[in-house]
Amino acid sequence: MKKPLTVAYFTMEIGLSGDIPTYAGGLGMLAADIMRSATDLKVPAACITMCWQHGYMRQTINPDGTQMYEESSWNPADKMKLLPERISVTVEGREVVVAAWEYQLKSGKHIVPIYFLDTNLPENDQADRDITKYLYGGDGFMRLKQETVLGIGGVRMLRKLGYNDIKTFHMNEGHAAFLTLELLKERDFKDEDVKKSCAFTTHTPVKAGHDAFDYDMAYKVVGDMLPWHIKKLAGEDRLSMTHLAMHLSRYTCGVSKIHGVVSNDMFPGEGIDYITNGIHHPTWATPEMQALFDEHIPGWKEDPSLLRKNYHDLPDNELWEAHMVAKKRLLAHVKYQTGETLDENVLTIASARRVVSYKRPELLYTNLLRLKEVCGGRVQIIHSGNAHPADPFGQDVIKRMIARSKELRDALHVVYVPNYNPELAKLLVSGADVWLNTPTRLHEASGTSGMKACTNGVLNLSTLDGWWIEGYEIDSEAGWRIGPLAGALPEAEENLKVDAEDLYTQLQYEVIPEYYHPTHVRWIRRMKRSISLVGAFNTHRAVQEYLKKAWDL
Ligand SMILES: *Cc1c(COP(=O)(O)O)cnc(C)c1O
Repeated sequence: MKKPLTVAYFTMEIGLSGDIPTYAGGLGMLAADIMRSATDLKVPAACITMCWQHGYMRQTINPDGTQMYEESSWNPADKMKLLPERISVTVEGREVVVAAWEYQLKSGKHIVPIYFLDTNLPENDQADRDITKYLYGGDGFMRLKQETVLGIGGVRMLRKLGYNDIKTFHMNEGHAAFLTLELLKERDFKDEDVKKSCAFTTHTPVKAGHDAFDYDMAYKVVGDMLPWHIKKLAGEDRLSMTHLAMHLSRYTCGVSKIHGVVSNDMFPGEGIDYITNGIHHPTWATPEMQALFDEHIPGWKEDPSLLRKNYHDLPDNELWEAHMVAKKRLLAHVKYQTGETLDENVLTIASARRVVSYKRPELLYTNLLRLKEVCGGRVQIIHSGNAHPADPFGQDVIKRMIARSKELRDALHVVYVPNYNPELAKLLVSGADVWLNTPTRLHEASGTSGMKACTNGVLNLSTLDGWWIEGYEIDSEAGWRIGPLAGALPEAEENLKVDAEDLYTQLQYEVIPEYYHPTHVRWIRRMKRSISLVGAFNTHRAVQEYLKKAWDL
C-alpha cells in the first residue's frame, strides 16, 4: 500500500527534457511544468504518461527550404527505472501487457513519480508493441488503443503499484478520458461515484481538435469496457472524449480566462471554469537572471508572487547585463546552427512556435515594402518552429520563409533556426529582445512561451489572445498589443490586414524608438514589468488553484 495521493495526473505527453522526447509541443511542456511545481509545493502527486519511442522528431531544413524529420531514438533505460509490475488491458479482444518506467522529480525528500507506460515488451505481438511507438501517429484505431493503454492501463497500473487512496484523477486533455471507464467498473457503474474523484482540463478552442471516434470502431477496440450508457456520457453520434471527460468530472476548466468563455460557447451548459496556465519559473529563467533574482528578490523561487511585489528592486544596469549575456548566447547558437552572424546591438525579434495556420506565422510579411521601411537596418528576426511532416501548409510556410529571408537579405536579416525544442526555446525566450506572437484571436487557448519570455525580461508583442489578454490587462506597460482590444472580432481576412498594419505601427513608433533610446530607460522599465507578470503566470500559482478548485476536495 502506497501513500495516499491528492492527484494522479494523466497526460498523453510530457516534456521533461530534450533527451526524453515523449512530447510534441505545448501540452507536454505544460504537463512537465505543472509536475515540477507540484513537486516543489510538496503535493502528494503522481503522473501517468506514455513511454513513446518516437515523440518529438528532429527537424533539419535544406537550403531550398524543404524540411526533413529524423526519428529521435532514445533508450528509456538510460533515464529511468523499469518497474517489475505488469498489468494488462484488452484491445481488439487481445490481452496487451503493459509495463511502467519510473522517473522521479524531487524536492528535498518529497518525490513525485512520473510513470511512463510501455507496451514494447517481448510478451506482446509486434502490432501491440507498436502502441507506444509514435506519439499522435497512426489512424483512429491506433489512437483508441493508445488512449486505452493511457486511461484504463494507467488506473490499473496505479492500483497494481499500491495506490488505493487517490483523491483526484486528473485528465490533462480528453486523451485520458478512458480512465473513467476503469473507475466506473471499480464503482459499480455509478456515475456519481466516479464524478467525485475526477477533474478535467480542456486545451483546445477549436471543435475539430477534440478527439471523437465512431462507435463501431470504439466497440472493436475497447469492447465491453464501454458501459451500457456510453452514448449518454460521450455523445449520441460519436464517442467524444471531451464529453466523456466532462460528464464524469466534478470540475472542468479551460486554460485562460478567454478560453473559458470560448469553451462554454462550444459546450453550452457544461459550466466550464478556467485556470490560466503558467510556467515553472526556475526552469525557464537563465542562470544570470536567477542570480539577479536571488540577490535582489530573495525567496522568488518559493514564492514567485514576490516578483510582482519587488520588481522595482532590480538594478537597471545589472538587468541589462544579464539580458546581454543571454542575447550573446542566443546569437552564438544561431551562428553555430546557421552560419549567420547577427549583431548584438541590433533589436532582435524572435518568433518561434509550431507552424500552424491559426498562429499566422507570416503576418509580419504581409506588406514587405512597409516591413523594409520600418525595420530595414534596425531589426533582425529569428524564426523557429516545426511543421507536422504531413502538413502541406506548414511545409510551404517554411519554404517561403527561407526564400524570403534571401530576398530580404540586403534590407533585413531574417534567419530560420531548425529544430525548435525546449533547449532552443530557452535560448530564444531569453536572448531575444522582443517575443512576437500573432495568433488569430480566440484560437490560442493560452500559450506559455510568452510567459517564459517574461521570466527573462523579454518583452511580448502579441495579439490579444490566450494568456496575453490577462497579462496586458494587469500591466499594459509590460509589452505591447497588436490589433484591437479583446472583444472586437472583425472578419479573419480584414483582421489580418488590420493586425499587420498595427504591427508595423507599433514597431515604428514604440518598439524601435524605445529600444534605440541611448539609455534604454523606458525599455528597462518595461523589462522589469514583464518580469513582474511572472508573479501571476507561474505554475506554483496554477497548482495552488488546481488544489483549491479541483484536486484537494
Ligand atoms: C513553451 C513551449 C511550447 C509552448 O509554447 P506556445 O506559447 O504555445 O508556443 C512549445 N514548444 C516548446 C519547445 C516550448 O518550450
